[in-house]
Amino acid sequence: MSDHEIQLPKGHYIGGRYVSGPDAIEVISPSTGARIGAIPCADAELVDAAVRSAREALATSGWAGLTPRDRLRAMHAWAALIEENAEELARLEAICSSRPAALARTGDVLVSAEQIRFFAEFADKEAGTLVPTSDAQFGFISDHPYGVVGAITPWNFPISMAAWKLGPALAAGNAIVLKPSEMTPYTTLRLAELAVEAGIPAGLVNVVLGDGPTTGTAITGHRGIDKVSFTGSTRAGGAIMENIARTGIKPMTLELGGKSPMVVFADADLDVAAKSLETGIMPNAGQFCVAGSRILVEESIADALAERLRARFSTYAPTDTLADQAGFSPIISDKQLRRIDGIVQAAKAQGGEILCGGAPFETPGSYYQPTLISGVTQDSPAVTEEIFGPVATFQTFRTEDEAMQLAAHETYGLAAGLFTSDVSRALRLTRRLEAGTVWVNRYGRTRDHILPTGGWKASGLGKDLGREAYLANRRTKSVLIDL
Ligand code: NAD
Repeated sequence: MSDHEIQLPKGHYIGGRYVSGPDAIEVISPSTGARIGAIPCADAELVDAAVRSAREALATSGWAGLTPRDRLRAMHAWAALIEENAEELARLEAICSSRPAALARTGDVLVSAEQIRFFAEFADKEAGTLVPTSDAQFGFISDHPYGVVGAITPWNFPISMAAWKLGPALAAGNAIVLKPSEMTPYTTLRLAELAVEAGIPAGLVNVVLGDGPTTGTAITGHRGIDKVSFTGSTRAGGAIMENIARTGIKPMTLELGGKSPMVVFADADLDVAAKSLETGIMPNAGQFCVAGSRILVEESIADALAERLRARFSTYAPTDTLADQAGFSPIISDKQLRRIDGIVQAAKAQGGEILCGGAPFETPGSYYQPTLISGVTQDSPAVTEEIFGPVATFQTFRTEDEAMQLAAHETYGLAAGLFTSDVSRALRLTRRLEAGTVWVNRYGRTRDHILPTGGWKASGLGKDLGREAYLANRRTKSVLIDL
């Protein structure tokens, strides 16, 4: 399929149809810097229209009251349509995001379809609970959808993030008003369209376009939104908490930022470690929440590991996201590219040694060289701040305790990696690491949807994926009856 054949969805998607608005936000290709198009920005009134559409769909379609099996069937049909349209969705994803089309088809689109099926299956597998009371009483816990879930997603994996929100919310019987990132709006709109085409009642999935301060704030502060589900930065998560506190308390799930350590002991298999460290930071040019951006290495193997990493990191070349072969991703925007470089240059000025990379690639678009920095201290911004680029710091330790002290981050606790051949040490340290996910002798997710993902500390509140994500979209009621 050529890019000319790809139609960019136009406008917000509310109640099963597109609603246009004046162009407000430019959409730019990070691969080339070219303008792709522009999108409108929903104000409070438009968000209100989307919420009303969701409420009406809940009331008239009977979605929440359908037999769970019927919800499940509709969601399976939706997943099948996503698979049928995988090629188009992957290219649409690649047009304005950092995801290579050649990878997005299998890695993002097909996995998202699989995840929607995974969540659909919960719809008719969860039963209420009878509570032992006395002969004179009968108690049970019933569970219910919230109603309208307001979801907000980031730009780094647009389709996947939308599926993580839509799958459990719909399976649990909710309607949803979803705002994708203003930088990557198109595939979320197509997902919503395909949901209607698959027989999910119009109005259950509404997509409003716009920025955080206007549209995002209108969603999180809307009284008709019963629950907020957010993925994005810790900064925006804090602003959302404040807005929710100011406008009326409602439940929320926050999947936020990270600054995850990958800790390598001298007894680790060095080949496995080097390969995993690479896949722990380089996919999507380091623009993923659980990126292992702090490499901590036992001193005796530091030189050998640094050499291997340098060799691996120097093989990357900028690749247009629409190229036939998947390659190294662009940084999402020029602004973000400059921010990354600012942190790297500051580390260098403070005495850090750039082991490789250390500058943007000199090509069109926004590409940053894979970068490894040693000689940094714990208070260097390269160590404390989420860089969200292909940049890792490289620090050494001598003892387990020192490794754990370095691994602990004041703010974040999203993920951590541990490389060792000593099972006792692995078990001991997985308990000590303050993180929502710990990988041992590997790094990163594959298709393990059953494992919930989410952060400790300021990396988040609640979980995505797993049974937890389904349950987070339902609320319980305790009922006690005197017989
Ligand atoms: P961001 O916080 O800038 O934006 C995320 C979304 O929130 C966008 O749709 C944006 O428009 C919206 N937004 C911004 N301010 C808002 C506000 N005040 N109220 C409501 N909505 C607002 O993040 P980003 O740059 O798009 O994404 C990168 C961040 O997302 C990183 O910090 C990354 O770690 C995090 N992330 C976390 C996970 C996870 O599972 N924990 C997954 C992916 C990304």
